[in-house]
Amino acid sequence: MNSQVIRNVRPLGGAAVDVVLDGSSIRAMVPAGSASAQLPSLIDGKGQLLLPALVESHVHFDKTLWATPWRPNSAGPTRNHRITNEHDVLKNFDVPVAERAGPLIEHCIALGSLYFRSHVDAQTVWGLRHIEAMIELREKYKHLIDLQFVAFPQGGMLISPGTADLMRAALDMGVEVVGGIDPAAIDRDPIRHLETIFELATRYDRGIDIHLHDPGDLGRWEIERIADFTQSSGLQGRVMISHAYSLGAFPPNDLTALADRLAGLGISIMTCAPPQVTVPPVAMLRGRGVNVCSGSDGIRDAWSPMGNGDMLERAMLMALRFGWSKDEDLAMALDVVSVGSACFGHRELWTGARMPGQSGTAAGGESCGSGGGPQPEAHRYQSRKSRCTRRRLPGPLSQAKSDAYASHGRVCCRLQRDIARGMA
Ligand SMILES: [Zn+2]
Repeated sequence: MNSQVIRNVRPLGGAAVDVVLDGSSIRAMVPAGSASAQLPSLIDGKGQLLLPALVESHVHFDKTLWATPWRPNSAGPTRNHRITNEHDVLKNFDVPVAERAGPLIEHCIALGSLYFRSHVDAQTVWGLRHIEAMIELREKYKHLIDLQFVAFPQGGMLISPGTADLMRAALDMGVEVVGGIDPAAIDRDPIRHLETIFELATRYDRGIDIHLHDPGDLGRWEIERIADFTQSSGLQGRVMISHAYSLGAFPPNDLTALADRLAGLGISIMTCAPPQVTVPPVAMLRGRGVNVCSGSDGIRDAWSPMGNGDMLERAMLMALRFGWSKDEDLAMALDVVSVGSACFGHRELWTGARMPGQSGTAAGGESCGSGGGPQPEAHRYQSRKSRCTRRRLPGPLSQAKSDAYASHGRVCCRLQRDIARGMA
């Protein structure tokens, strides 16, 4: 077995250890300095934090303007304005998806994310072009990351004839999850919208991830209907509601019965915890057993010039949004962007061949990562530079065969869930 050592790292801020790897599995964690000097060092962590791989649960890689010249935002004030504006911006954009999304994916890897769920447009204005481009990119990065796709009807499904056919075609091409969007506000026929996406999901044996921005009582009513459809379709554990702003419009005590129902049906909630709208009460939902994960949503696209794909920063934004400051709160924020998401929110993905524990070793852990290449320390500083300048990462990333990497003062690797929890 090919053994290597990640030296002198502090798992979740604990005592410094050396992590001994056998191939892609963790064999042992021993006090720092005590691993055999004969074993080759993968990384000298120099006392940096060791974190589980971060999980980006909601992003739109296909529509980013990353790695292109700055473009002032031209969107109008409403969601429909922004959808139309995006059509205008991207329809004739002369930089292909791969040349925008690829550098952004590499940037996100360098920041510690190794698991991704990206919504990818399936809408008539550009047909399957985005799906095709993202599937090619997935192939390019499959040795580094797990990248899951949602067939996303951004422009509406019922109001845009032909969209459901594109979504079927996307599922035929291997897209893992059926998307949806505001069944009431955009598609104007919530029950028919839900019937359509749940029928697609059951026919193709896929999960569902629905964008739900509809506010207040309307959104809450739609969440209850999503629960009904989940139950009647037998899709327990395979449905996610992204945003669910309406859950933030009610006192948490008023939501306990609904939260219990979501937990019982295994319906996950994704929140970016944005500052300008009501957001789901993350702590209460988790306390009732609901899986909550997070994501960047759009990153420097036609919707917004904001975003950088840093999931640790997302955890900080969430903490700021909710006024979290105690260590247990911060641990919760980290869990939402890492282990918690990996083990529940993306059940279909995370039970794949590279799921921790599948490696067949007695140690049971897996550290399988990216970006270090032969000179991980050098990479660390290069990636920091790329963060500032948005320049493409240097060659070693795409050639990396190492099992962990360091970036921005972090060492991230894939860890078995119970090992990660045990380190807390
Ligand atoms: Zn989104």
